Amino acid sequence: MAKLNKKKVKELRDSLTLQPKSVWEQASPAQRREIMALGEQYKRFLDQAKTERLAVEAIKKAARAKGFRQLKPGAVGKRFYLEFKGKLLALAVLGRRPLRQGLRLLGSHIDAPRLDLKMHPLYEEQELVFLKTHYYGGIKKYQWLARPLAIHGVVCTAEGRTVEVHIGDGTEDPVFSLLDLLPHLSRRSQGEKKFSEAVEGERMNLLLGTLPLDAGAAKDKVKLAVLQELNKRYGIAEKDLISAELELVPAGRARDVGLDRSLVGGYGQDDRASAFASLQALLEVKNPAVTAVALFFDKEEIGSEGATGAQSRFLEHLTALLLQSAGQPADYLSVSRCLAASQTLSADVNAAFDPDYPEVHEKRNAAYLGYGVNLTKYTGHGGKYGASDADAEYVAWLRGVWDRAGVVWQAAGMGKVDEGGGGTIAKHLAIYGMDIIDVGPPMFSMHSPFEICHKADIYSSVQAYLAFYQAPPMKGGRGLA
Ligand code: MN
Ligand code: MN
Repeated sequence: MAKLNKKKVKELRDSLTLQPKSVWEQASPAQRREIMALGEQYKRFLDQAKTERLAVEAIKKAARAKGFRQLKPGAVGKRFYLEFKGKLLALAVLGRRPLRQGLRLLGSHIDAPRLDLKMHPLYEEQELVFLKTHYYGGIKKYQWLARPLAIHGVVCTAEGRTVEVHIGDGTEDPVFSLLDLLPHLSRRSQGEKKFSEAVEGERMNLLLGTLPLDAGAAKDKVKLAVLQELNKRYGIAEKDLISAELELVPAGRARDVGLDRSLVGGYGQDDRASAFASLQALLEVKNPAVTAVALFFDKEEIGSEGATGAQSRFLEHLTALLLQSAGQPADYLSVSRCLAASQTLSADVNAAFDPDYPEVHEKRNAAYLGYGVNLTKYTGHGGKYGASDADAEYVAWLRGVWDRAGVVWQAAGMGKVDEGGGGTIAKHLAIYGMDIIDVGPPMFSMHSPFEICHKADIYSSVQAYLAFYQAPPMKGGRGLA
């Protein structure tokens, strides 16, 4: 056989092999400007959406400004929002086709790892007043010590008042902190322990104040002074903290990272990166063939549980209301047919390959920062436990949609097979019979107080989500009879 010349080898390589593409290198000068401009919008969104309640407010405000109205029985129009308990939100743009033929759904989550307060949080010790915390979601506890924290949330009183508390993110606000031990004295109590045991949850207490009431030898004078201040500001007493949801999150704004400003660093990007990209894509959708829906779930970080998580019945109710407002039957069969005929992207972040820890990644199947939105056929752990595992037909359809729209994307799992793993909302929505797959930007330092995403990957995510919404109906009888 004759030896192939260089040109022929290149032809073969270009036509037969898969070559990863960097979003930035593929982008035109105009697109590069768009990537940077989108980064500015993204940082503002992160600053507004530091808790699930604040995220709902920020998304609802953006949608209302674009003419979205509240979805309720008898509502007329094409663009709707439906909110539940201030922590779960859906946006929808009605399509031209009958709803029973399915929806295009994007599902992200707007909760993030953080520190909550216990029901009896307030105490005084050595004339220092602290709040006892209880962490929410998967955190590495040491990352939350000795850094500025803000408090955001609500206190509800038995008389029916809801008081909003926001301290630590205004420019003149004080911040709060959990103490850490100095290295000089931590050799045994931290340094010689296993990493996972070095910081104990019961030692994660927030320092709140030190100035006593002017009350002579009275007991708990600092605690009383703190309670007096809380009462003055918010009209609350200690018992009201039992019915509070106060969340401790990193104080400060999202920032550009890197000399070239290519990255965004900040809190809560898992999964507000996907929530932001979903929102941007949905607001762009005009008169789609298939009804476009963006879902913003709570409680993903603790297993999608509860009334506002992805395991709730909210989606069935939303579907029935959409059917009704479109003048179509909203009975059980119509709802289940609609959901089973739907295509969904579980919009969530994935771990980017970290060159300092190559041993946890499998480099041929890892996501790379800057290489675009990432498609993950299955999540889970070990032998695919806990995965919904998208089928080949759906993956093929989605690939075609993105390639025709010129989206720069990549496909990757998370970590080595035996290393660990994780889940998303995908399996909880897959039970309706819909097509669903995980899609989102890669990220460094996931679940830390300062997560890092690439601006080009946020841009690629918006492009990917928009192409998905606008793609023509999927062919073939994929739904239930
Ligand atoms: Mn997530
Ligand atoms: Mn997470």
